[in-house]
Amino acid sequence: MIIVYAESIDGNFKKSTLEAVSYAADVAKLTNTGCVAVSIGDIDDSKLNELGKYGADKIVAVKSDALKQFVAEAYAKALANVATSNNASVVVISNTYSGKSIASRVAAKLGAGVVSGVISLPDTSSGFKVRKTVFSGKAFADVDLTTPTKVLAITPNTFNISEQPKAGEVSTHDGGLTGADFISTPIEVSRVTGKIPLTEAELVVSAGRGMKGPENWGMIEELADVLGAATACSKPVSDMHWRPHSEHVGQTGITIKPNLYIAIGISGAIQHLAGVSSSKVIVAINKDAEAPFFKAADYGIVGDAFDVLPRILEAAKKLKAAN
Ligand SMILES: Cc1cc2nc3c(=O)[nH]c(=O)nc-3n(C[C@H](O)[C@H](O)[C@H](O)COP(=O)(O)OP(=O)(O)OC[C@H]3O[C@@H](n4cnc5c(N)ncnc54)[C@H](O)[C@@H]3O)c2cc1C
Repeated sequence: MIIVYAESIDGNFKKSTLEAVSYAADVAKLTNTGCVAVSIGDIDDSKLNELGKYGADKIVAVKSDALKQFVAEAYAKALANVATSNNASVVVISNTYSGKSIASRVAAKLGAGVVSGVISLPDTSSGFKVRKTVFSGKAFADVDLTTPTKVLAITPNTFNISEQPKAGEVSTHDGGLTGADFISTPIEVSRVTGKIPLTEAELVVSAGRGMKGPENWGMIEELADVLGAATACSKPVSDMHWRPHSEHVGQTGITIKPNLYIAIGISGAIQHLAGVSSSKVIVAINKDAEAPFFKAADYGIVGDAFDVLPRILEAAKKLKAAN
């Protein structure tokens, strides 16, 4: 059986979850077995059936008051227990922040081999091989998993969400948890609200040190707002507290794969590109024609951001008004 972790936030399944369920359903097809989606925490019964639309034969809900907040140790144990009850051959987890923190734990509990950053469906023609990115996205590694149970942490924004309706029969599981599994307790969770989450965004407007200071981010936010995009930044920008760390993309920040990444006043250092180079279309705006970003970009504008941005903003507003 293929088990997939169905991560939710504020009572809704994330886009990355729908990708993971679609991926797991494809793995199930490939290996002639079924697909079970496991939801942990607080989610409405009416939402659970939705996962059938993306290929889940069954949906197992693990609910309890103690699981309303994400606790890595407890979530990992519950997922591993449901996997064991369902005789899992593969456990699929999206490589999100919380996915990353449970994938290895689940693998350890199941005695499973684990691959994180998976970007391909398994090749089962000889063994069980999956491809992952290595060296900050500069190369690929094909990994053969030889354990009876395998854990695959797939890269978000890599696989399509596909509708492949299945029964989606819902049942519950107690998760097999005890008080001892809650060795850490979140005291408070503060979330950015009213903004498009960076990891889910199809369009991203990102800026770097070329913007000179935090007082100039109004233009960046306005452009993001008009385009319906999320905002991101380079590492120095978040290090200097011009922008929150949650916007830092790159090797030491978040990895994103939007359809469009607009980089403004960012040099394009290898460590930055590591987090954004898989974007479908990259536009770089930089006043230095020799900036490395132009080598990675599909479109480049050589010019001063303070001159170029207002003009792009005006054009974007006109386009929006016309549609
Ligand atoms: C181990 C390690 C990990 C790292 N991880 C990351 C990471 O995850 N993410 C990351 O971003 N960096 C990371 N870095 C830092 C990285 O090497 C670069 O220093 C950083 O990306 C540079 O940020 P920047 O492009 O905003 O600034 P700068 O290098 O200062 O570049 C600013 C750019 O803006 C242009 N510019 C200036 N004024 C204007 C203007 N008016 N209009 C248009 N363009 C203008 C300049 O020509 C220049 O290209 C890491 C470094 C190390 C060593």
